[in-house]
Amino acid sequence: MSALGFLRSLFLTELRRGMGVTWRHLFRRKITVQYPEERTPQSPRFRGLHALRRYPNGEERCIACKLCEAICPAMAITIEAEKRADGSRRAVRYDIDLTKCIFCGFCEEACPVDAIVETRQFEYHGEKRGDLYLTKELLLAIGDRYEAQIAADRARDIKYR
Ligand code: SF4
Ligand code: SF4
Repeated sequence: MSALGFLRSLFLTELRRGMGVTWRHLFRRKITVQYPEERTPQSPRFRGLHALRRYPNGEERCIACKLCEAICPAMAITIEAEKRADGSRRAVRYDIDLTKCIFCGFCEEACPVDAIVETRQFEYHGEKRGDLYLTKELLLAIGDRYEAQIAADRARDIKYR
């Protein structure tokens, strides 16, 4: 150890510096948020849990064009399409594997009918791999549950574009 290092150790220089930082911050305004009792503001463009939306008459918006599947960089989306008796094209399978998803938002940007969206929901978890595999039924149920907020956020987004 050098002489300078020895003197620093002897006079506890590093410890004093550390205590100085502690004292400087002790009486400052606290910036730590006591989650979940306290929450920070959330952007209407927050990219959380995915949802599939319906039109007000209950019809699924998704036309199974597969643009979202093609653009997804993580290859997290799997779609299978079928033609209905009325000639319309619909997804019979629409799965998102959240263990692959990187929440980039490309899927919702690509969708021509505003069907796949990312909601503000971030409080979810899975206890096994399959819990993070969202099927079409689950995605539609999430959409039904949060439709009011999704619609309000998208209306605000269009206004500021
Ligand atoms: S958010 Fe990005 S990674 Fe996730 S499903 Fe959509 S396109 Fe794929
Ligand atoms: S969610 Fe949108 S982009 Fe994806 S298949 Fe359906 S209509 Fe096409």
